Amino acid sequence: MTKRVRATIRGRVQGVGFRPTVYRYAKEAGLAGFVRNAPAGVVVELEGPAERIEGFFARLEKAPPPQARIDSVEREEIPPGDETDFQIAPTAHSGDLLVGLPPDLATCPDCLAELRDPADRRFGYPFTNCTNCGPRFTIVRSLPYDRPRTSMAPFQMCEACRAEYESPEDRRFDAQPNACAACGPRLRLVDPAGHALDGDPIEEAAEALRAGRIVAVKGLGGFHLAVDATSEEPVARLRERKRRPSKALAVMFASLEELRGSCRFGPEEEAMLLSPRRPIVVLPRRPGAPLAAGISPDTRDVGAFLPYTPLHALLLEKVSPLVMTSGNLAEEPIARTDEELAPLLGPVADFALTHDREIVRRCDDSVMKLAGGRPLPYRRSRGWVPDAVRLPVDGAPVIACGGEMKNTFCVTRGDRALVSQHIGELSDLPAFRFFAENVRDFCALLQVEPRVVAHDLHPDYVSTRWALDSGLRTVAVQHHHAHAASVMVEHGLTGPVLGVSLDGTGYGPDGTVWGGEFLACDLAGYERFARLGHYPLPGGEETVRRPVRMALACLLSDPETARDEVVEAVLGRMPAAERRVVARMIERGFRTPLTSSAGRLFDAVSALLGLCDEIDYEGQAAVRLQWAAADGVDGAYEFALEDDGSGPLVLDFSPTIRGIVRDIRSGAEAGRIAAMFHNTLAAGVRAVCLEARARKNLETVTLSGGCFQNERLLGLVTDGLASDGFEVCSHERVPPNDAGICLGQAAVALALARKIGDNVGPGGR
Ligand code: ZN
Ligand code: ZN
Ligand code: FE
Repeated sequence: MTKRVRATIRGRVQGVGFRPTVYRYAKEAGLAGFVRNAPAGVVVELEGPAERIEGFFARLEKAPPPQARIDSVEREEIPPGDETDFQIAPTAHSGDLLVGLPPDLATCPDCLAELRDPADRRFGYPFTNCTNCGPRFTIVRSLPYDRPRTSMAPFQMCEACRAEYESPEDRRFDAQPNACAACGPRLRLVDPAGHALDGDPIEEAAEALRAGRIVAVKGLGGFHLAVDATSEEPVARLRERKRRPSKALAVMFASLEELRGSCRFGPEEEAMLLSPRRPIVVLPRRPGAPLAAGISPDTRDVGAFLPYTPLHALLLEKVSPLVMTSGNLAEEPIARTDEELAPLLGPVADFALTHDREIVRRCDDSVMKLAGGRPLPYRRSRGWVPDAVRLPVDGAPVIACGGEMKNTFCVTRGDRALVSQHIGELSDLPAFRFFAENVRDFCALLQVEPRVVAHDLHPDYVSTRWALDSGLRTVAVQHHHAHAASVMVEHGLTGPVLGVSLDGTGYGPDGTVWGGEFLACDLAGYERFARLGHYPLPGGEETVRRPVRMALACLLSDPETARDEVVEAVLGRMPAAERRVVARMIERGFRTPLTSSAGRLFDAVSALLGLCDEIDYEGQAAVRLQWAAADGVDGAYEFALEDDGSGPLVLDFSPTIRGIVRDIRSGAEAGRIAAMFHNTLAAGVRAVCLEARARKNLETVTLSGGCFQNERLLGLVTDGLASDGFEVCSHERVPPNDAGICLGQAAVALALARKIGDNVGPGGR
């Protein structure tokens, strides 16, 4: 029996070769009809015998195009038409244009094979791509995603490329960045004077890298700085020039096989490494790995990744492994254009391997780790953006500004949040400009005009001032409430939960610095159920930079440790003037707020053990403490959980500090003390959760905050709570650090709007 079916297919079905696949399957099944892109996804109409139509759908669901993701297929029967053939119908561009814009995708196996085939016309061509791979988000100026609106617009396709682009049978049908050596972008190697060097740019760049030189390499979302990863001296030189003394540097390996010689990894990590998102995956380094020690002096891990552009593949074939770190100074945004690279070319990089395809959007590499068998994002950027995150609430569009450090922001439409790429430290002027530009860009991509902006409660954050100046209605969200809400969003929860947030710094409405918080909360509000005990933070930021001051603050604020000989040891590591100033500040409380920060507790213990007196990147003291911790240590120190009936419970770790001081005095091993400190912190968190269950019936616990980047702590807390029967939710899609909080801010703003009946409704786009 002949019938006609119309199907609307949703998911990631545009810009990934979906229509040609549908075309091919329909043709092969001898069906008539058409396929076309529609605002919601793809619409297919099929006419023919019922069993062939069923066969078509079964095949499509079983074998969709490699980069496609089918979320739903809605089918209805309609009256027969009059076609006798199957066609790809022209696209009607309207509605949700973002459907057609996938993230940037790593080079696919088919393109890699062509790249390496001397008989292929794309042999050695560094901008090879197809419908299944290549740049997307980083080359689009505006939507809909069509070549004239990308940075490929200036390149006229040659006849051969045009034929591929127009043929539904071809892998490059409708591939917007399609190009070849005859018509596409060109590579060149330039010296600091801007002169292009003679010879093959990749060969010359590889030669320079082998000789220990630093080469800036233009990638998908910005320039990398590349240097030979096997040799100490060039790595040290890169660190010095880039002003990045010790934070880990990412390393790109030519192949999985080569990577196996340097790192250990299992099937889940292998899948992450090979996925088209191609993140940096943090892996344990093998002892004796042929890598410079200077790559990651504070850990035994390596941030490893594989080539994701043809240029990387060609370069790494000649010289590998390479340090590939973002092309910037310290924490500035990654260089995107030759102009932005100029201040680095010469002072930092000896050469630049660059090209004439413009990067429209900056986008740093993403960073992931596998922790307890689950993905733990450290940075969600290239390969993920602009994939939306679904919210458990919806409403009129909201801009959520995020935090001050590791900033990302998000813009919502309905129940979708579009989380931005990594922006950086907003207190930096260039990063702030990047933020402001990108907010506009995202609103345009989503075609929304938000009227509400959610921001952190901190009055001095640049993003708060931006929000207040925006002329939009503002919603201030407490930092740790946003942390908890961000985990709730990931797990589709609206609460109530016990939101455990352990991090460095967040603004507290009571005039103290929060950072070890247990909030009984839902999306719309919170009650501070418990906090960590207070310690003085002499001089605020100065003590954040100098953990040794935090150690002294902890010791001096407790009469039982204030006169211990360990104090003398700590004081001996500080300049005399600083000692006097800090002691006086603590005594008088001058410029010395109180803090319940878990991050500062890590700092203090790390400094007490002599692991880190001063940091050069956020979280460094905690990273060293984590890596110092010995395995197989079960013991823990004492702590106290106090309730004076007037405010939140207080989880007091001063008994812990006293125990640590005793152990230091008696010469216990730092590795043992560090491990016991982790155990103690986890036990303290568990005690608070049990109390919250007893008093408030809270069965679900969310874990967030930068301290949960520490997978040792995350594992101890998760295992402990799970054995107590709690539902434990942690981050798997956005980072636990402040790069995740924009998602929570957005959800809180939407939940509040709903609660007060202020919902403009789904029509408020
Ligand atoms: Zn491809
Ligand atoms: Zn061509
Ligand atoms: Fe935070």
